[in-house]
Amino acid sequence: MDVSVIGGGPGGLYASILLQKANPDWEITVHERNPQGVTYGWGIVLPNRTLSNLRAADAPSYEAIDERSTQWEPFDLYYGGERYRSSGHSFASMLRTDLLELLQERCRDLGVALEFESEIDDPQSLAAASDLVIGADGIHSETRSEFADEFGAETVDGEARFSWFGTEADFDALSHIFVENEDGIWCAHTYPGEVSTFIVDCDAETWANADLDQRSEEEYLAYLEDVFAEHLDGHELLSQVDRWQTFTTVRNERWSHDNLVLIGDAAHTAHYSIGSGTTLAMEDAIALADAIGESDADVGTALESYEQQRRPIAESLQRSGERSRLHFEDIRRFYGFDGIQFVLHHLTRSGRLTYDSMSRRDPDLVEEFERWFAASSPGGAATPEQADPVSPATQPLELRDLTLSNRAVRVAGQTFDARDGRPTDAQLAAVRERSNDGAGLTMTEPLAVSEDGRITPGSPGLYSDDHVSAWQETIASADTPVGSTLVHTGTNGARQTQPFGLEGPIPRNESWASRVTDQYSNPPRTYAPDRLQGEDLERIERTFADAARRADDAGFDYLQLQLGNGYLLGSFLSPLTNDRTDAYGGDLESRVQFPLEVVDAVRDAWPDSKPLGAVVQATDWAADGLTLEDSFAVGRALSDRGVDVLAPVAGGVSDDQHRGDVHGLANFSDELRNEVGLPTMATVQATTSDEVNTLVGTSRADLCTYYGSVNEL
Ligand SMILES: Cc1cc2nc3c(=O)[nH]c(=O)nc-3n(C[C@H](O)[C@H](O)[C@H](O)COP(=O)(O)OP(=O)(O)OC[C@H]3O[C@@H](n4cnc5c(N)ncnc54)[C@H](O)[C@@H]3O)c2cc1C
Repeated sequence: MDVSVIGGGPGGLYASILLQKANPDWEITVHERNPQGVTYGWGIVLPNRTLSNLRAADAPSYEAIDERSTQWEPFDLYYGGERYRSSGHSFASMLRTDLLELLQERCRDLGVALEFESEIDDPQSLAAASDLVIGADGIHSETRSEFADEFGAETVDGEARFSWFGTEADFDALSHIFVENEDGIWCAHTYPGEVSTFIVDCDAETWANADLDQRSEEEYLAYLEDVFAEHLDGHELLSQVDRWQTFTTVRNERWSHDNLVLIGDAAHTAHYSIGSGTTLAMEDAIALADAIGESDADVGTALESYEQQRRPIAESLQRSGERSRLHFEDIRRFYGFDGIQFVLHHLTRSGRLTYDSMSRRDPDLVEEFERWFAASSPGGAATPEQADPVSPATQPLELRDLTLSNRAVRVAGQTFDARDGRPTDAQLAAVRERSNDGAGLTMTEPLAVSEDGRITPGSPGLYSDDHVSAWQETIASADTPVGSTLVHTGTNGARQTQPFGLEGPIPRNESWASRVTDQYSNPPRTYAPDRLQGEDLERIERTFADAARRADDAGFDYLQLQLGNGYLLGSFLSPLTNDRTDAYGGDLESRVQFPLEVVDAVRDAWPDSKPLGAVVQATDWAADGLTLEDSFAVGRALSDRGVDVLAPVAGGVSDDQHRGDVHGLANFSDELRNEVGLPTMATVQATTSDEVNTLVGTSRADLCTYYGSVNEL
């Protein structure tokens, strides 16, 4: 076979090695546009898992890597002028030039032809002349651009700026060094080595404040040497290329087209802060060589099987990289954290390390954190040193005069068998049962503020005094505080039920369906924001306030208002559902007006001593819909009106919604909590204490819905 490889980076060279080793009679040529020995970049890190894969794939190149790399285990985080060292992170680092050099040597030993200064600008012709073309030409791949439609290529640029430097300053750990100056927050990512790697990044605001684009290379190097003076220890920053970049995320719907295949950065990129790009490229090469070997050199079958094997792994790392990238871009949000709190939040940023895995890697660090958490909790010791280490999930939380004994929230499932809004004995028994197993808070199913605000004919409500007496005894006998969510479903209600959830609307001639559901727009959709007039709004506001009063009479300890998922108040917030032209429509400030008036009315009716929460729409996940930035403004307005807890939800407004795969609800909780400064309840399906602690113990949420055993928290 005649194989042409475009790009002599780690991916292209390693694929050539493995293919040539397995097929000594094949003609394999690597085309590299740079002269030999010329490359951009200083050091790279390789996790130990990758090293064992490399050893299994090709022992001679592994041995050369082992010889020229530095092994290390600690990770240092510098924050607020302090160093926090975390152990248990095994990696090797080496210079990119060393890696390329040893891979080139191995290529030559095996008979691979290396052609330097050979830039391929016409991959199509090369494909016509070869049996297989491997596009290993990196992040700005010409192979990918040439066949962008065939590959379904997408590239998205991040906002932060970075540049890659070297330094002779000595580091004995992988470090993230945060330094704040008058222009903003800077971070250096350093890897130890003969020449240490020193990547500097900053958010867009810091970049603009420091006028870095106006400074010459000499000037910005001097500026950064000053910023990081304490860490550079008198050494200068070494620069190869005068270049500041934004990180480009590369995705392709397909990784091959005819006899062309993409590997490494040409196919997918993962943010440098998780140190995985070289690993991914070399492991792609292993999978490609294996697939070709297993397919008896049937190129079509091999390329398909290579992609099936690698795509899930690459996409998973890509998602972790995205989370990590966003963390760095939004670093200001977390910059007020206490030191040890910042460290644990930072180490778990990509989602690959959970609370328990951190405890196994570095028990001392987690113990220090747990002492801090215990001392910061209500009734905790005066100082962390005096506190006992505890699982954060078990710690109390104070909300106004209510103290929750731990961070787990039980939710009574929806059974849809209430009669005229009055809960059945089975519904009450379900709440009693959940409230007696020791969780911090038990939430009933949502309660409608009016008959026509119910989700289904079987949904309970708090719109008559008769409903109050139904709840009183259950709440009085509950061992733990009981809360509920007040809802008016707007045009989202009047639904039929099925065994595992909701169906379409109930028939038009039944009950209130004709007035509320989208499907029956003529006669009017009474509860669509644009149809509600002055007296309707006053009435709705009153029903919320009356329901809050009844909730207090019934003995509820906590109440939250439903402002998400396209229900009535949420539909005022979203530009997709609110097209009013009066004071309640238009920009966000106007769209939030009616929900805020309802919050005011409820806050007046609900005792000051009791906490009030809001289920808040974090994003519509739809073009032109409510964005995460909008939800921050809504969260701040709610906080100003006396809301104490935010419970983020997303979507449910548009049929054309595109769920992002990086943000889960847990992440919206992280963002809303730390941007708005209010406690959050993460609405997730947590079943283990690890999941609760991964949110609560890393400052991403304060409460977490939980379906596991409270004794195991
Ligand atoms: C700041 C920074 C830090 C990083 N740190 C790490 C780390 O610690 N660990 C890690 O694993 N990864 C790291 N990476 C990522 C890593 O560098 C890349 O993911 C990795 O190099 C990808 O390998 P590749 O072979 O796919 O592409 P590349 O290494 O980019 O190689 C592509 C090659 O193709 C050549 N080429 C391009 N176009 C043509 C053409 N038309 N014709 C011929 N040749 C061409 C280029 O000159 C280049 O040599 C980092 C990246 C950055 C930006």
